[in-house]
Amino acid sequence: MTEAVHSYYAATANPAPAFPALTGEIVADVCVVGGGIAGCSTALHLAEKGYRVVLLEGERIGWGASGRSGGQAIVGFASGQDKIVHAAGKENARRMWDISIEGLDLIADRVARHHIDCDLHWGQMHAAIKPRQRDDLLAEQASLAKDFDYPVDFLERNAVREILSTERYCAALYDKRSGHLHPLNYTLGLAAAATAAGVQIFEHSKATHVDRNDPATVSTATGKVKARFVALCCNAYIGGLEPTLRNRIMPVGTYIVATEPLGEERIASLIRRNVAVSDANFVLDYFRRSADHRLIFGGRVSYSGLDPFNTQRATRKRMLAVFPQLTDARIDFAWGGYVDITLSRAPDFGRLASNIFYLQGFSGHGIALTGIAGKLVAEAICGQAERFDLFTRLDHRNFPGGPLLRTPSLVLAMLWYRMRDWL
Ligand SMILES: Cc1cc2nc3c(=O)[nH]c(=O)nc-3n(C[C@H](O)[C@H](O)[C@H](O)COP(=O)(O)OP(=O)(O)OC[C@H]3O[C@@H](n4cnc5c(N)ncnc54)[C@H](O)[C@@H]3O)c2cc1C
Repeated sequence: MTEAVHSYYAATANPAPAFPALTGEIVADVCVVGGGIAGCSTALHLAEKGYRVVLLEGERIGWGASGRSGGQAIVGFASGQDKIVHAAGKENARRMWDISIEGLDLIADRVARHHIDCDLHWGQMHAAIKPRQRDDLLAEQASLAKDFDYPVDFLERNAVREILSTERYCAALYDKRSGHLHPLNYTLGLAAAATAAGVQIFEHSKATHVDRNDPATVSTATGKVKARFVALCCNAYIGGLEPTLRNRIMPVGTYIVATEPLGEERIASLIRRNVAVSDANFVLDYFRRSADHRLIFGGRVSYSGLDPFNTQRATRKRMLAVFPQLTDARIDFAWGGYVDITLSRAPDFGRLASNIFYLQGFSGHGIALTGIAGKLVAEAICGQAERFDLFTRLDHRNFPGGPLLRTPSLVLAMLWYRMRDWL
């Protein structure tokens, strides 16, 4: 997945400047590596606080997961709250949950403040396919209300049918605070806001080495940045830059199709409220309406790291299992990208040295969390690390098996989870 991305998002991207590649040596307070939402958010916050910030992106702004994603901005963490409570204790888990809510508010605030045109809508449904999942959703609703003071609506089959024209789901949780947006335009909007705040952005400037000194030096093929602080926001695309980080995440491919424009009436007959939807399977389906009335439908994963043969056909098949009404709908775009899953699926934030910070491990749940994570790094760099360190205390392990065996072992684990989805 290193080629240009032919996605619906790329085809409908707002005009954005091309940034130059880094040449020569420059000095900054902070060097951010990675031009996704995490990196752009970190850079924007720091520039707003008066820091001189340089951002290095190996490809183009938004080229990674941020510009390819399902666009669902969802509260919480991919791991679910139980694992966070177990790892961090009840009180800290509650504080982390509240930070994730702040992530949603931050999106609303930035879209309004920086006039980011990114088709933002609120409302998200988490849908059960099986009675077992319906019970899980009921328990989750009770726990969210009791432990996190976060009310969501429980919808029985008929109520779900009033919103979604499909027989697939027997229940759902409806969360009015989560939502969806055009993730590439949001990322480009953050980069524009960062530039306006003084951030120097360089594209096609892949960091090849980070010299952990004070100041640190980040090298690219054609230049160097000397900076007091470094923030690594590279996600699953980190490659060989920092093996200690790479060993704790597994790049997992996930795939999306966008239909032809279906017209307002037809798309609204399938999804009556303009909400985003994901299901409760481990290998989940996720879908929503686009601003120009397409269905954007994502699902299936590849742990083998290979772009599977005919992704479009396989993802379309999953789409038709939800909306058989769409057999005649043409698929205009099909694309994929990598998510950075950790073993526990909890986010992995921390420091490689006292002045080298990193954000990773969003585990496919990063549209809202990356933004607020950037704010937390910025706070830590400014000397207020309390909220950042709530996350650094989460324990993370390397994937077992070493470089050769870890993918096969994960494929096996994956088969087990897939079988659970079928039961
Ligand atoms: C297909 C797909 C669907 C998804 N759907 C959803 C969803 O609906 N909801 C949700 O919450 N999350 C979703 N996610 C996950 C979400 O998109 C990510 O968690 C989030 O965008 C991660 O942002 P990021 O800034 O950390 O990483 P990215 O957006 O991946 O940015 C990292 C950037 O770092 C750059 N980089 C890497 N190494 C270097 C280097 N050495 N030097 C310079 N630059 C470098 C890369 O080129 C890349 O642009 C999805 C992901 C995918 C792939």
